[in-house]
This record gives sequence, structure tokens and C-alpha cells, in this order.
Amino acid sequence: MKSIKYQIIALFFISVLSLGFVACDKDDDSTAKPVITLTEVGHENSKTATAGDDMHLEADIVAEGLIARIDIEIHLEEGGDYEIELSYTDGKYIGVRNTEFHEHIDIPADAPAGEYHLHFTVTDKAGQQTTVESDVNIVASEE
Ligand SMILES: [Zn+2]
Ligand SMILES: [Zn+2]
Repeated sequence: MKSIKYQIIALFFISVLSLGFVACDKDDDSTAKPVITLTEVGHENSKTATAGDDMHLEADIVAEGLIARIDIEIHLEEGGDYEIELSYTDGKYIGVRNTEFHEHIDIPADAPAGEYHLHFTVTDKAGQQTTVESDVNIVASEE
């Protein structure tokens, strides 16, 4: 009787252990979502841009699942629905794991001056998305 009892307990522990291993394997298979660090919005991270000029934009991107696309949206916070939209779907940032994004975004001369909100979204090849946000102040050109 005693040995049967021990066998049942042993079987119980074996099944708990194997369930545990299955769960761990599943975790290892999942790919981390993209990680974005906005390092500079505007010259020297001034968070300011000038209408009719371009805006320096830098970000560090780590995407375990490889970058599939980058979308940038800069919209007026108040007083209208003016927005600037940009997408990168090919070129040097696409298909890589680690990159330093550095672009000069054209701010149209007709962009109304004011407080804007920037959304920077990275989508990986598994369809996982991460968005980071920042405030940007667009000032009228001095001419
Ligand atoms: Zn630059
Ligand atoms: Zn927004």
C-alpha cells in the first residue's frame, strides 16, 4: 500500500514539473515588443520646430521581432486638426533589430504655430506595436 501511495505522489510531481517546463518554453518563444527611446525631438531636444524648416528627430529602437514599419504623426493639440504624417516602410530602418533613427522632418510653411503632439510608432514583423509620445512646439518662421 505504501509504495503505491509514493508512486502516486511521484507521478503528481512529475506532471507538475512537466507542465512547468511547457509553460517556460512558451515564454521563451514570445518576442519582446519594440522598445523606443526618443532621444532628441528638435535641435538638442528643444522640442521646438519652425514652420517652413525641418525638425531634427532622433530615437533609439530595439525590435527583437525586426522593424516592419515606423509611423510618425505630429498633430496640433488645440485649435484645429492640422497634422503631419510620415511612414517609413522601406529603407535602412526596415528589417533590422537595432537602429538609431535620425531624420529631419519637413515642417510645412503653412503649419499653424502652436503646441503639437508627436506620436512615434514602431511595428515589428510579428505585428506588435509600441508608441512613444512627445510634445512639440511649432513656431512661425521669422521671415
Ligand atoms: Zn539631425
Ligand atoms: Zn496625440
